[in-house]
Amino acid sequence: MGCFALTEPDAGSDAAGIRLRARRDGGDWVLRGEKTFITFGDEADYAIVIAVTGSSAREATAFLVDRAMGWTSRPIDTMGSWHTPASLTFDDVRVPAGNVLGAVGEGFALAMRWILRGRYVIPSQAVGTAERCLEMAIAHANTRVTFGRPIGERQAIQWMIADSEVELEAARWLALRCAWAVDQGHPARHPAAVAKLYGAGMVNRVVDRTLQIFGGMGYTRELPIEGWYRAVRVLRVLEGTDEMQRMIISRDLLRGYERIGGHLA
Ligand SMILES: Cc1cc2nc3c(=O)[nH]c(=O)nc-3n(C[C@H](O)[C@H](O)[C@H](O)COP(=O)(O)OP(=O)(O)OC[C@H]3O[C@@H](n4cnc5c(N)ncnc54)[C@H](O)[C@@H]3O)c2cc1C
Repeated sequence: MGCFALTEPDAGSDAAGIRLRARRDGGDWVLRGEKTFITFGDEADYAIVIAVTGSSAREATAFLVDRAMGWTSRPIDTMGSWHTPASLTFDDVRVPAGNVLGAVGEGFALAMRWILRGRYVIPSQAVGTAERCLEMAIAHANTRVTFGRPIGERQAIQWMIADSEVELEAARWLALRCAWAVDQGHPARHPAAVAKLYGAGMVNRVVDRTLQIFGGMGYTRELPIEGWYRAVRVLRVLEGTDEMQRMIISRDLLRGYERIGGHLA
């Protein structure tokens, strides 16, 4: 298994703040520094590591680094079970020049492209999880009886189900709109930001409503809902936080990109 190592303690949202450096030494590169919050970093056998090789982080290079080359990892405990992260340490790890991915100095641009791909996926992950939650909520609302009637006959429950359906359907279309733009060969940066921002928020709200409809049972570990409740929270943080998506979306609009239709790149 592999992982993609970009983030560092002082970088995060400000991806251009990466500091892990690689220096040339004969036929090798020598990597020194740390990466944090790297998904599956503790399980990975190899990592794609972005390291600064020029005068600024934008002059970075991507390396394929085998664990056997000497990097170490420490798992980071989190509230959810998805995207389990680790901290990776590179203490003068020697990497053959043949392990450079792409061209020297092009690693930052490559990393931005890979992160964008992650943003294509999260809206679909959100839609799939929300679909399952809504199915469970509907089944429970139809079978759980209180005060002599199924709770699904109460307006309070009906409105939660209706709100979840509307938001789920909206997120599905945004995910499909993004997938369509990718299929057309567009980078789809703008539709990916829109779909990612909305999808991540949507699934958090749908899981929360589902837990509410299940009452106490929703809070127990006998059902998967509480685990999803904790897990989906990270979707508003990784691959660019909500705030970063809003920044991308508003910048595109303020710079005069076409607002409706067209192919917002
Ligand atoms: C479980 C998990 C797995 C991860 N996996 C990976 C991985 O595999 N590879 C990888 O490279 N990274 C990974 N990350 C890192 C993730 O991409 C970062 O956590 C994320 O980009 C946010 O960076 P940060 O944590 O440093 O928060 P910060 O950048 O410190 O942000 C803190 C808060 O400030 C806000 N903020 C920051 N700057 C601004 C601004 N200019 N304007 C307004 N608000 C701002 C943010 O939106 C956020 O709310 C993972 C994170 C987690 C939690």
